[in-house]
Amino acid sequence: MRPERLVLWDIDGTLLTAGPVAREVFGWAVEAVVGRDVGEHGVAMSGKTDPQIALEILERTGLSEGEARPLLPRALAEMERRLGAESGRIREQGRVFPDAVDLVNRFHDDARVLQSVLTGNLMATARIKLGAFGLDRFLDLEVGAFGSDHHDRTELVPVALRRFEQRHGWRLGPGQVWVVGDTPRDLACATAGGAHCVLVATGRIAMADLTGIGADAVLPDLSEAEAVVRLVMDGARPPS
Ligand SMILES: [Mg+2]
Repeated sequence: MRPERLVLWDIDGTLLTAGPVAREVFGWAVEAVVGRDVGEHGVAMSGKTDPQIALEILERTGLSEGEARPLLPRALAEMERRLGAESGRIREQGRVFPDAVDLVNRFHDDARVLQSVLTGNLMATARIKLGAFGLDRFLDLEVGAFGSDHHDRTELVPVALRRFEQRHGWRLGPGQVWVVGDTPRDLACATAGGAHCVLVATGRIAMADLTGIGADAVLPDLSEAEAVVRLVMDGARPPS
């Protein structure tokens, strides 16, 4: 059976939280590149791509964008290396959200659905975080879209659709794609790509701030798995 839905999961705040190290590695990486202590970087990370976050931290050290941008590849490589070295801490101090995992399992058992990620993480950092909790085996990361593909998240739905076509040999329409995320930025990328969107208030953004901005559904968490499955497969909206 051909998959007729592509479910693209956001990672941080939606499937899992990787704990404090996910934030710390950005500071360490920028320190390594600029050669001095940058302290707590104070950059809000929710929904941003890793390149966007690293660039903002570099700029907070006093660099202009023109000075910061050439340092970005080294900073990201450093961040990736350090996160990989800290996967034990991700397991110890982070956690997966059980309701999200249940839903991943339900979709995994349904041949009509293919699951991957749409995330601001680099492909490498996505693999580290998902792998820390064994979630990577349920998701076809070859058709995912990552912060390493584009610094602007709104460019990422077409990337996933292109990869799907390359891998499976036929084309899905954007209306067959569902983005599941925890921030208005997840919705913005879904909307830009013509995809559907479920927002869930398990990250740092409150339910009230996710409501009324245009998502197909806004949920406090993913505990109503059956309702989400009906929405994604049949377009049946859960009661609000
Ligand atoms: Mg998120």
